[in-house]
Amino acid sequence: MNFSDTYTSCGPQNEEPTVFEQSVAGRRGFAFGSPDVPASDPKDTFGPVFRTALAELPELSEVDVARHFTRLSTLNYSKDIGLYPLGSCTMKYNPKVANKAASLAGFAQTHPYQDVSTIQGNLALLHTLQNDLAKICGMDAVTLWPAAGSHGELTGILMIRAYHTSKGNPRKKILIPDSAHGTNPASAAICDYEVVQIKSDGCGLVDPAEVEKHMDADVAAIMVTNPNTLGIFEKDFKKVADIVHSKGGLVYCDGANLNALMGYVKMGRIGCDVMHMNLHKTFATPHGGGGPGAGPVGVNMALEPFLPTPVIVKRGDKYSLEEKRPLSIGRVRSFFGNFGVLVRAYAYIREMGGEGLTAATRLAVLNANYVKARLKGAYDLPYDCPVLHECVFSDAIQNKTGVKTIDIAKRLMDYGFHPPTVYFPLIVHGAIMIEPTETESKGLLDRFCDAMLEIAKEAKETPEIVRNAPHKAFRTRLDEVGAAREPCLKA
Ligand SMILES: *Cc1c(COP(=O)(O)O)cnc(C)c1O
Repeated sequence: MNFSDTYTSCGPQNEEPTVFEQSVAGRRGFAFGSPDVPASDPKDTFGPVFRTALAELPELSEVDVARHFTRLSTLNYSKDIGLYPLGSCTMKYNPKVANKAASLAGFAQTHPYQDVSTIQGNLALLHTLQNDLAKICGMDAVTLWPAAGSHGELTGILMIRAYHTSKGNPRKKILIPDSAHGTNPASAAICDYEVVQIKSDGCGLVDPAEVEKHMDADVAAIMVTNPNTLGIFEKDFKKVADIVHSKGGLVYCDGANLNALMGYVKMGRIGCDVMHMNLHKTFATPHGGGGPGAGPVGVNMALEPFLPTPVIVKRGDKYSLEEKRPLSIGRVRSFFGNFGVLVRAYAYIREMGGEGLTAATRLAVLNANYVKARLKGAYDLPYDCPVLHECVFSDAIQNKTGVKTIDIAKRLMDYGFHPPTVYFPLIVHGAIMIEPTETESKGLLDRFCDAMLEIAKEAKETPEIVRNAPHKAFRTRLDEVGAAREPCLKA
């Protein structure tokens, strides 16, 4: 008998033993008939590498193995199971039609070495997607090749460096607000720029006076996230851009939060020179788990010559790939980027249309503001300013009874919800960052808010319940640092 023999109920209440613990001597997953050729001694074939002792492998039947991994898969939380309110991540439900499109044989089975004449349809799709994204952002040209948001940043900063170099001096510094995503300073540093941190104001926004103070002829660019990592619109973006442009600098926009702007703001019109967007946040590719993504980059005309190669060119009805571009930063990715992700984005944009995308933004903003309004008062709002697609609370009120952000997050699991992003952005102590996205109903958001309010009440009245959560999971409070630093890989 093993676990599979005795397992009866479903759901995550059961701890799943390892395959080694489930092993039963003599069980087999397959059976071969007798060979119809003479047997040979494997030692003759393999020589000294042939193992003399038996390998210590688990002994299981095929059905044991299939059920073990299927049960494990049910322990995984996903967007297809329920609300996934991770702030700064845009974990929205992705329509299945986008997957369906990406798996069509004509797309999924093209080979990257095929002759250009045989992939005209794929190139037409990419070319159209570039134009759509350029239109959404108000940029003049777009490259689809970067594989992630951070890769888009790297591509954008390389273009900024190439632009300044072509003018005779790459410059030395990049200005980055203290609220920025950690990838921003990393991208600037990889491109050999010194990072100058700009202090943000009372709403976590970039203060034009601070930019003025630091802006000089050594500054290559400013990187501004809009809306910023607190979910707040950079209302002085144009003013900041003018200050930077007046001293010959460029303006980079981290557009990973495009879910808050689509259909409402075209960054190219308010002074942005280069921006990336995350197709795996806004445009129907699931985000997380380290899966493939895409971080296309839009540029204005002045930066167009520096775009990575190849550039898709349309002449008449024919598409070709242009490799010879003297000012280009070169290739940033093999072949055609993460092509499947690009097909999903194309399908999503076609399905939604301009009005649909605008409505998605409107609902994403409405949902975030609804959650903010319901939780305000029960949770501290360190930056109580009008928000767009997400809202950031802190644990300041719950701290009074010794309850911290991590406890609130763990307790939410007892209520059946995936916790929001915690301890980010770094400028908020004990941050709880909630991004509901547009795909959630009011009913579900109400249940989530009810759970958060109940936890706030518990934190006041019975704080030990919250501090020791989760109570319903079969593993309760894990030593997460210990698990990461000294993993025990049991065998
Ligand atoms: C998600 C995000 C990034 C990084 O995107 P990746 O695709 O994970 O590399 C950068 N900036 C902001 C503001 C983000 O939200």
